[in-house]
Amino acid sequence: MNNLSAILNELKTSNTTLVAVSKTKSVEAILEAYNAGQRIFGENKVQEMVEKYEALPKDIQWHLIGHLQTNKVKYIAPFVSLIQSVDSFKLLQEINKEAAKNNRIIDCLLQIHIAKEETKFGLSFDEAKKIIFSPETKALKNIKIVGLMGMATNTDNQEQIREEFRTLHKFFLNSQFSTINSQLSMGMSSDYKIAIEEGSNLVRIGSAIFGERNYTH
Ligand SMILES: *Cc1c(COP(=O)(O)O)cnc(C)c1O
Repeated sequence: MNNLSAILNELKTSNTTLVAVSKTKSVEAILEAYNAGQRIFGENKVQEMVEKYEALPKDIQWHLIGHLQTNKVKYIAPFVSLIQSVDSFKLLQEINKEAAKNNRIIDCLLQIHIAKEETKFGLSFDEAKKIIFSPETKALKNIKIVGLMGMATNTDNQEQIREEFRTLHKFFLNSQFSTINSQLSMGMSSDYKIAIEEGSNLVRIGSAIFGERNYTH
C-alpha cells in the first residue's frame, strides 16, 4: 500500500478526504488498505458493496458512487455511510423511506452532470437547484443532502477538466453548501490534483491505489 500512504500524505496538506474506490478489488486488497489506516471505501455496485460490508470490519464507512436503482436502496440502507450518486428526486424519496425503516438519517450527495459525455449519469444544475431548494426535499426527514459530486470528461485536455470542476465548485458555493461540513466530491486517479486545486474536499481514487482494474463497470 505504498501508493496509499503517498496519496494520503499528498492530501493532508489540502484537508481533502480520501475515498478508496475498491470496486472489482478483493476483500484481501481492501483489508490491506484498512490495515494501513484507510476507513472510507467506495463501491459502485450494490451487491458487491453488501458482500464486502458483510465480510469486512464494521467500522468501515461505505460510500456508494455508482448509479443506484430505487429497488436496490433497501439493501444498503442499513449501513451505507454516504450515497454520492443521487440523480433524481424519486431516488431521494426512496432513500428517505428506507432510511426511516432503519431509523437512520442517510447522508447524500447530488451527482451533477458536468462532463461533455452523454453516457454519465447526473443532474443538470437546474435540476439540482430544484431539488436543493424545494420544500418537498425539506420534508424528507431521513435524508440529508450534504454536498455534490461530479465527474469530469474523460479527456487529456486538462483545461477542459479544470473548467468543469471550476463550474461545479462555483455552483457548490452558490447553493447552500458553503458550510464547513459540506462535501464536494470531485477527482479520480487521473484528475484529483486538478480537482483539489479547484475546491474538491473529497476525492475518489481507485486505480492509483489498488492498480488497474481488469474490467470496469
Ligand atoms: C471507478 C470510479 C472512480 C475511481 O476511478 P479511478 O480512475 O480508478 O481512480 C471514481 N469515481 C467513480 C464514480 C467511479 O465509478
